[in-house]
Amino acid sequence: MKIQSLRGMHDLLPDQSGTWQYLEKTVADILARYSYREIRFPIVEQTELFKRSVGEATDIVEKEMYTFEDRNGDQLSLRPEGTAGCVRACTQNGLLHNQTQRLWYAGPMFRHERPQKGRQRQFHQIGVEAFGLTGPDIDAELLLLTARLWKTLKIDHVVTLQINSLGTSEDRKIYRAALVEYLTKHHDELDEDSQRRLQTNPMRILDSKNPDVQKVLQQAPSLSDFIDDESRQHFDALCDVLTASNISYEINPKLVRGLDYYSKTVFEWVTSSLGAQGTICAGGRYDGLVEQLGGKPCPGVGFAMGMERLVLLLDELNAVPDSVGQTVDVYIVAVGDTMKESVVLSDTLRSECPNIRIESHCGGGSFKSQIKKADKSGAAIALILGEEEVASATAGVKYLRREQPQETVVQGNLGNLLNTFFTD
Ligand code: ATP
Ligand code: MG
Repeated sequence: MKIQSLRGMHDLLPDQSGTWQYLEKTVADILARYSYREIRFPIVEQTELFKRSVGEATDIVEKEMYTFEDRNGDQLSLRPEGTAGCVRACTQNGLLHNQTQRLWYAGPMFRHERPQKGRQRQFHQIGVEAFGLTGPDIDAELLLLTARLWKTLKIDHVVTLQINSLGTSEDRKIYRAALVEYLTKHHDELDEDSQRRLQTNPMRILDSKNPDVQKVLQQAPSLSDFIDDESRQHFDALCDVLTASNISYEINPKLVRGLDYYSKTVFEWVTSSLGAQGTICAGGRYDGLVEQLGGKPCPGVGFAMGMERLVLLLDELNAVPDSVGQTVDVYIVAVGDTMKESVVLSDTLRSECPNIRIESHCGGGSFKSQIKKADKSGAAIALILGEEEVASATAGVKYLRREQPQETVVQGNLGNLLNTFFTD
């Protein structure tokens, strides 16, 4: 039997990798323009790290983590998200000591959930975190950055921003009690999942997708009535910047996010163009997390975007520039006994034309079959090297995408010709 990839864990094939590279480069360029620096940390961490940060009563820790014992008997998990590892790395390396940090990371995350469109078991995020900053200015900066990204990617017309404030953990404690009191009275109207969450993580009931549960929630106490003045002012100031920057947003009082560590600002960028998996980017403020993981208190705010969902959206909207699929500029055709000369010429041209992508035909074959391959490669020019050309130190230059007669050019002039052709 052939061995297959694991369910929900996909290969990224070369036809798609251009789109991924385009997306990753666009994000990295914008992050650099906002002075964020990349951090890399391991994919495997102690299970305890995620229990303490993501939260014991969350879906992720309760039922989605890939957890195993290694050969030393240590409890380890594949990272289900990036913030925990990022905070661990920063604390361990003293990056949060009397300084601010603007950071980003990219890579695979692992969650054992039901695979469907836009939901895998191995998926990829680019995450962004800012540490040491308490004010709404940095929250706003992160949202402006993402808005600029959607615009650059030409997907801004299909995404909308939802924001909310969760207040402080004290606010939430009082609210949680009020919510539990209300929902307990309506216990029998809740579905099984919500009844269970009433014991473990009642605020998660707020984002239940069940319409019956949503009906019960209509009369439930609202978190916005429970948040303190400071959180309220923080939130209002953030909204003011968004308005002044022409970023439209929707305040969604039911937005609570799946992870325990958030406080004050939370947000999601959502689209209706992808079906059920509509959140492409989500995050918020987590002022208590660093201390919760054993560091000195240090405020933080960040978000992560789901790369698979962004790629789906780019494809759906045909928003990937045509040039992305175009990977060869010049194709070198070698007919007859010219193998040595064509390999040498190809590499000489790569020295002379560092910005031109050259595919050198390998493996011989007829002129006709090689020209067919040249055409299929998308190259604009085929250089033809036969025994006659080798004898006269020339090459045939065939234009594959425009009406221009084939010419014979001295090999020493080819570099110039190509450089001029491709800068036009
Ligand atoms: P969802 O509600 O879709 O399950 P989440 O709240 O669990 O998302 P986060 O932990 O906030 O997601 O992760 C940030 C982003 O990462 C999501 O908005 C989404 O774009 C992406 N993401 C999360 N889980 C998956 C997954 N299993 N497959 C693909 N992308 C994912
Ligand atoms: Mg989830």
